Amino acid sequence: VYVLGIETSCDETAAAVVKNGKDIVSNVVASQMESHRRFGGVVPEIASRHHVEQITIVIEEAMRQAGVSFSDLDAVAVTAGPGLVGALLVGVNAAKALAFAHGLPLVGVHHIAGHIYANRLVTEMKFPLLALVVSGGHTELIYMEGHGKFTVIGETRDDAAGEAYDKVARALGLPYPGGPHIDRLAHEGEPVIDLPRAWLEEGSYDFSFSGLKSAVLNTLHNAKQRGEEIDPKQMAASFQESVVDVLVTKTVQAAKQYRVRQVLLAGGVAANRGLRSALQDNMKELPNVELVIPPLSLCTDNAAMIAAAGTVLYWQGKRSDLALNANPSLPLI
Ligand code: ATP
Ligand code: MG
Ligand code: FE
Repeated sequence: VYVLGIETSCDETAAAVVKNGKDIVSNVVASQMESHRRFGGVVPEIASRHHVEQITIVIEEAMRQAGVSFSDLDAVAVTAGPGLVGALLVGVNAAKALAFAHGLPLVGVHHIAGHIYANRLVTEMKFPLLALVVSGGHTELIYMEGHGKFTVIGETRDDAAGEAYDKVARALGLPYPGGPHIDRLAHEGEPVIDLPRAWLEEGSYDFSFSGLKSAVLNTLHNAKQRGEEIDPKQMAASFQESVVDVLVTKTVQAAKQYRVRQVLLAGGVAANRGLRSALQDNMKELPNVELVIPPLSLCTDNAAMIAAAGTVLYWQGKRSDLALNANPSLPLI
């Protein structure tokens, strides 16, 4: 089974061809990061315009690299939400046009399901499993008892992890997106600055990062008032330790409580080296639980993950019709 995946929910225009929902045949990503950098974040209008310019080229390139024609495809899968509505619409309309023109089934995919299914491009999923989704807009612990069966057991009550990374990076004068820069600095510094950890109520798997973010901003502000210098490497290391500590502790606890067979890491922040290594270390406590961490290129937004999730939906007989619309707040069900 060959599925073309299309992803335009944020600031990467992406298309990929995936075989049997697990083998990447082609995976093309056109990033708009450079265009948004000087604004310090993604500008929705600019994102939509870039998607319109890039979408045809990116899809043609994915098909060319895969060496397949539309008659070889079994379905077209596309991110239908959540994300920026104007950005999503470009991918959704392209997918509808292709599905209609070539008589192919259309499958709408939830972006976060896509991030989770990036793991199926690494290894077979074994249920029940727990996915830690950490991205620019989401921080969630999701329990899955089978394909497409998602139960959110914890989520952020304020900022997403990636959002906190980007805001702290901005305060440290680092370019957008700041996550990778903090990650790099963190490895050059020591976590000597005392920062809070939001554990929330006993037994809760929810997260909160706004208090940590404020603590970083206040510490920087107060130091400036006193004319003192804060070493950005120490701040990056301290911030990263606080984020990673909470993410890893709650994930391991939930993996124990829910007796899962696998723990999957997903989303852009899964590219974080501190998180990857801390999770690897702490999961040694649960030798019977397999930890899966996708390669960096499959953690950030891409279309191979959308094709992977779309293939499973296709096998389950799920179809979208040509009335499929972009839904910026699509629920994960
Ligand atoms: P969502 O998936 O929730 O809709 P998104 O698609 O914008 O949001 P992703 O592209 O999955 O998010 O991830 C982008 C986020 O990942 C950014 O906030 C970025 O700073 C962060 N990120 C990327 N690499 C790293 C890293 N090495 N360490 C920490 N954060 C990182
Ligand atoms: Mg992005
Ligand atoms: Fe994403």
